[in-house]
Amino acid sequence: MFTSINPATGEAGEGIKELDADGIELALGRAQTAFSAWRNSAPEQRTQLLGAIADQWEANKQHLAETAVREMGKTLASAIAEVEKCISGFRHYAEHGPSYLEPSEVQTPGGRAVARWLPMGPVLAVMPWNFPYWQVVRFLAPTIMAGNVALLKHASSVQGCAALMQQLASAAGAPDGLFQNLAIKSDKVSDIIADKRVVAVTLTGSEGAGAKVAQAAGKALKKVVLELGGSDPLIVMPSADLDEAAKTAVTARVQNAGQSCICAKRMIVHAEVYDAFLEKFSAGMKAVKIGDPMAADTGMGPLSSVQQRDTVLEQVERAKAAGAELLFGAEKIEREGAWMTPGVLVGLDPESDVAKEEIFGPVAAVYKAADIEAAIALANDVPYGLGSAVWTQDEAEIERFARDIEAGMTAVNALLASTPAAPFGGVKLSGHGRELGPWGMHEFMNLKAVMYG
Ligand code: NDP
Repeated sequence: MFTSINPATGEAGEGIKELDADGIELALGRAQTAFSAWRNSAPEQRTQLLGAIADQWEANKQHLAETAVREMGKTLASAIAEVEKCISGFRHYAEHGPSYLEPSEVQTPGGRAVARWLPMGPVLAVMPWNFPYWQVVRFLAPTIMAGNVALLKHASSVQGCAALMQQLASAAGAPDGLFQNLAIKSDKVSDIIADKRVVAVTLTGSEGAGAKVAQAAGKALKKVVLELGGSDPLIVMPSADLDEAAKTAVTARVQNAGQSCICAKRMIVHAEVYDAFLEKFSAGMKAVKIGDPMAADTGMGPLSSVQQRDTVLEQVERAKAAGAELLFGAEKIEREGAWMTPGVLVGLDPESDVAKEEIFGPVAAVYKAADIEAAIALANDVPYGLGSAVWTQDEAEIERFARDIEAGMTAVNALLASTPAAPFGGVKLSGHGRELGPWGMHEFMNLKAVMYG
């Protein structure tokens, strides 16, 4: 059984039965059968289904959001926003998907070739709990549009969210087997990747899980897309609007209780504005209202689990042991559940172990940089390369950052957020491959050259 624990209260939710070996076999068979029909579906049938799923999500917005709050502790307001983003994701592919399928033509010495996008088959998605809907929809909407079929292995803690997503797809009229939630533990994943009915796998999560899944995919010579962790820099230069930069840095660091792969985790501030930024940023971090995630005025709820909270507290202890100063916060709140306060570290040795890790909770490390060279060097001095944000009014600096920060995304004077139309993904240990837009859809398609003599 899967039992989710409400991280705000410590109470156990309803148990969800784990799928047994026969259930997995049935699901794989169903996926194969569904693909044999769905691969030939017309683009209009796919867009119609995506629209119908979006409608189902609209009609069930509150229920979806409350389920996520109970299972992983995000605030209701952010859960509603996540559901709305999912709806926009389904609608994006309903609107633009047909154009992403358009063939292109090239001239060849002997005649011409047409490059056509064809579906590949059932794709497995291994997904995490932090955005329990959006992480899945980023994969599911393009999968449906591509003519592929989807199998989901969701994180153990959000099995209620996973079950709900499958129900809504069915209610929208998805053919049997088009999208199946496999309520399985992670030890079943390798065998499913190896199964010949599964053609590819995508994972969002930790490096450890990514490496295991990539190993299984490599062994079976199957394509894999990985969206792993990040330790995103947010760079503040002297010309920046400091109020906006500090406000956005606070939002970035405490949204989802700091458990977002692309939130700014390291604030790298030019020496000229370091003190002023630190004061504004610290004031914002201290002002975050912690409380019941269901309440409308709550800025931050609990972390997703006691284990996740304790991992963050342990990283803070190691940072202190490595010479960092904890300015305030990062304290356990003594009540049932996974509670802690936001905190700010300064003076963290960039070469210490913890400085190279992802801190997946509401604790920021603030660094001082002498100039743009030092800021970029520090930004790149981690094994990750997912997102980044830069705050400056100087066009030449913006160009330098866009060119030289080793990351899949750079936000300029804005909060970094994924959006259905733009490519999403990272470099270095943050993974490989892209999600969203045409790029995400094409990752799991066969670009066939049809050659005409
Ligand atoms: P995991 O990477 O362990 O979990 C993500 C998904 O992978 C879950 O569905 C999980 O299943 C599955 N999984 C775990 N191990 C394996 C495996 N060996 N083979 C196949 N699938 C596997 O994340 P955690 O929840 O343990 O979080 C740990 C850390 O990972 C966080 O502190 C954070 O640093 C990072 N993380 C990053 C995320 C991001 O968005 N980049 C999201 C979540 C975590 P199950 O739940 O059943 O273990």
